[in-house]
Amino acid sequence: MIKPTAKNKSVFSKTTNDFQSERLSEGMKVGLINLGCARNLVDSQAILGNLKKKGHRIVDIAKADIAIVNTCSFIEDARKESIDTILDLIELKKQGKIKKVIVAGCLAQRYAKELADEFKEVDAFIGTPTLDREEVPDQVLLTPKHYAYVKICESCFNQCSFCAIPKIKGKFVSRSIESVVEEVKQLDKKGIKEILIIGQDITAYGMDIYRQKSLAKLLKSIIPVTHNIEWIRLLYAFPAHVTDELIEVMAQEEKICKYIDMPLQHISDNILLSMNRNITTAQTHELLNKIRTYMPSGSLRTTFIVGMPGETEENFKEMHDFIKKTRFDRMGVFVYSQEEGTAAFSMADQVPETTKKKRLDVLMREQQKISKEVQNKFLGQTLKVLIDEKSESEKNVFLGRSEFDAPEVDGIVYVHSSKELKPGQFVTVKIIDSYEYDLVGEVV
Ligand code: SF4
Repeated sequence: MIKPTAKNKSVFSKTTNDFQSERLSEGMKVGLINLGCARNLVDSQAILGNLKKKGHRIVDIAKADIAIVNTCSFIEDARKESIDTILDLIELKKQGKIKKVIVAGCLAQRYAKELADEFKEVDAFIGTPTLDREEVPDQVLLTPKHYAYVKICESCFNQCSFCAIPKIKGKFVSRSIESVVEEVKQLDKKGIKEILIIGQDITAYGMDIYRQKSLAKLLKSIIPVTHNIEWIRLLYAFPAHVTDELIEVMAQEEKICKYIDMPLQHISDNILLSMNRNITTAQTHELLNKIRTYMPSGSLRTTFIVGMPGETEENFKEMHDFIKKTRFDRMGVFVYSQEEGTAAFSMADQVPETTKKKRLDVLMREQQKISKEVQNKFLGQTLKVLIDEKSESEKNVFLGRSEFDAPEVDGIVYVHSSKELKPGQFVTVKIIDSYEYDLVGEVV
């Protein structure tokens, strides 16, 4: 088992250079497995884009000579999935089905030396591509052709006590407004319909290079260059950095989806403090009121962490009551994972695993009820839906999303239509049925 320690720079940079200059110097068939979040997906596309430019062919992993896995090390489960995938690829290499195994991403960055010691069969370990990326060729896109992620910053401005990301990713870096606007222009030219602005904390955008929170300004600069793009979606807002100006821009600009993904993580004052979230219970309530006043029909997604060290039954009850009362449209819950190198790692009063799991179950069951009721409110309404794909199992059924749902993480609208619909097409849909997370409708 790999024992986490600080990353070893010399091993890391040596293998990166091997990978880039020597080992893949001829045209080869390369396949990639992406693990983790949408931010990793953007990095995977950049890796494939660079390889394509160097003359390599991008193929399905089953047909590849070189297999790359872009790993995630956010929490224990993510690390396990990454390690299992590396082991699977090593097995394929042993069977002679692939020639080389390359490990990229957070896990490779965090545990470069340990991985190199443990997995001798891996040919190279590489980190994250640089932020100012070149245009990604269509052939290596890992998303459908009608939406695209635009990463505006790398690493995180914050130091949440439970999180290892700032340590793994290094200094927070924002792209310039000009660079982001240029990328959006290119995407718009290609006919993209939805862009998803992402980063670990997009609300801190600009605090390094412009010395102030500049997301609202960035959005105002992006909107005029969007012609084909009809939806701009914001992913991962840090509550303490959400400004009035940002809420106003979101509410006023038609193209910005009335959807906010804002991880709150907890609501008890003492836990928010020990998490180093820079926000209090009262400030959180005030912020939520403001968002709901400006965007009354908007969709609010959040995540919570149960079992943070020191979380008492009383703290948990406060969170449970808060969830019942606030009724989030979308909500995820994580179990606290003790991450080496974080401030919370050595905190007293670690919560037993069984208690954490119980708390997770209670919150998830509560949210299922809320979610079903939230979805019911759409019955009989008409929604603008972006078609993502055709159903593989049902005739005349297409899978789409309203502005209230992000791809991969949220629900789907099952659209019945006797006419053929294309991915990237917007349609008006009347909602006729609802489930816990998904909706069913017909084109009107
Ligand atoms: S906001 Fe906190 S939890 Fe999120 S990436 Fe940054 S440090 Fe980690």
